[in-house]
Amino acid sequence: MQNRIFWILSLAFVTSASDVTYYSCSCHGGGCSGNFCTGRTCFVTEEKLPDSKEIFRVRGCFNTSIAEQCNSRTGITEATCCYSHLCNANITIFPTEVEPPITTSLLLVTILPVGLLLILAILFTFLFWKLRRKSRKKSLARLIDFGNPDIINASTVGDSTLGDLLDDYCTTGSGSGLPFLVQRTVARQVTLVECVGKGRYGEVWRGTWQGENVAVKIFSSRDEQSWFRETEIYNTVLLRHENILGFIASDMTSRNSSTQLWLITHYHDTGSLYDYLQRTTVDSKACLQLAVSIICGLVHLHVEIFGTQGKPAIAHRDLKSRNILVKANNQCCIADLGLAVMHSQTEDYLDVGNNPRVGTKRYMAPEVLDETIRTDSFESYKQTDVWAYGLVLWEICRRTVINGMVEDYKPPFYDMVPHDPSFEDMKKVVCIDQQRPNIPNTWCVDNVLSALRKIMRECWYQSPSARLTALRIKKTLNNLKNSLQEGKQEC
Ligand code: ADP
Ligand code: MG
Repeated sequence: MQNRIFWILSLAFVTSASDVTYYSCSCHGGGCSGNFCTGRTCFVTEEKLPDSKEIFRVRGCFNTSIAEQCNSRTGITEATCCYSHLCNANITIFPTEVEPPITTSLLLVTILPVGLLLILAILFTFLFWKLRRKSRKKSLARLIDFGNPDIINASTVGDSTLGDLLDDYCTTGSGSGLPFLVQRTVARQVTLVECVGKGRYGEVWRGTWQGENVAVKIFSSRDEQSWFRETEIYNTVLLRHENILGFIASDMTSRNSSTQLWLITHYHDTGSLYDYLQRTTVDSKACLQLAVSIICGLVHLHVEIFGTQGKPAIAHRDLKSRNILVKANNQCCIADLGLAVMHSQTEDYLDVGNNPRVGTKRYMAPEVLDETIRTDSFESYKQTDVWAYGLVLWEICRRTVINGMVEDYKPPFYDMVPHDPSFEDMKKVVCIDQQRPNIPNTWCVDNVLSALRKIMRECWYQSPSARLTALRIKKTLNNLKNSLQEGKQEC
């Protein structure tokens, strides 16, 4: 409305003054009294200070027709004139930089880089996690791809003893064992001496390496998965423990178009607990020693060790007296990890492997026999190990002499199933009839056997979650051992 009144007034003024033409001009900055002025020339001046984006602009009018100031240029200040109504209203001289809107610049300056960094961080974490998971498999692949046997070099191992080698590499390296090249070098310098055992999946030989005894487990080529799995588990960091069979080397060779798979471990002359119990009886102190050492090995397997030099939790899945070896110091060590499963909370995986092999039917827990086991839960596998541990305890206790009395060696369920029981035989006894190995009353008169009797019953609950954990058993047995050492006889 104000504009329209102004236009009417100014047009009237221009028409009345016939010899001189006056224009209405835009008036801003300088000494303007309003938004408009009237003059013979409209002008715009602009001033731009060095190092500043700000432009100081003045619009107005002169009363002369050609003002001296028109088209003046100093580099800092510039002026321009025009001759029509409000012609100076939209004139700008210096190009004005378009300032991005505050929101856009904020986005560009802060949010975008932070977002990018976040995406990169997530990407790196994911890649790191993936790489760590794959690294174990990759390193095993190197085992298979040993390549040219000519590069075997005796100087790699020099004249060190096995103890030296293992000490050197296991304290300075990953803690799991010898580097793969050294493993292969050792393996190819072993001389086989005699066959000491036959498992279901191959033969075990006593061999020698630079005068020392070693055990060589030779897998049949159709059982490659067991060799691969056992190799993988033994190369797992921090697996070394006095109650886990000591791993030395693993080797795969191709001879006469057949594949030879070797797994070399410490050799234990006494053989398996199964063989030992056939020929030997023990007193209650030795019985407890065997029981404690096995549970210590099992706890070490079951536990996950966190940290950079950690170890995943491992469940054995084929615990039995034939897979436990007796050492010269009367302690046991757990062997045959070909069926083990690994679990890591840190890296969030459950690795059941892809070995078609199944455990030993006689030692199978009820949930394995009736196939209700939760195969996606690592806890389930540990619970089946505890069931089997209870059966091994029973085998040891039968061979423990109390008051001059001892039972013959018998395998678990010997009186309930045939010699080589089928899955169905075991299922009927263990799941349907819910039978358990018989516990003689005579065990009650001995402190150790009565404590072990209680433990084995708690390993044999039908419900897997009701069973004791390996750690609980270890604590109970250690307390028992300590109380006996202190002379406090408890029953
Ligand atoms: P499989 O996977 O074929 O069952 P195992 O590792 O259980 O093989 O070994 C089979 C048998 O060989 C054992 O029961 C034991 O008698 C004997 N054996 C295995 N390892 C050793 C060893 N390190 N020292 C002495 N004897 C062993
Ligand atoms: Mg075995």
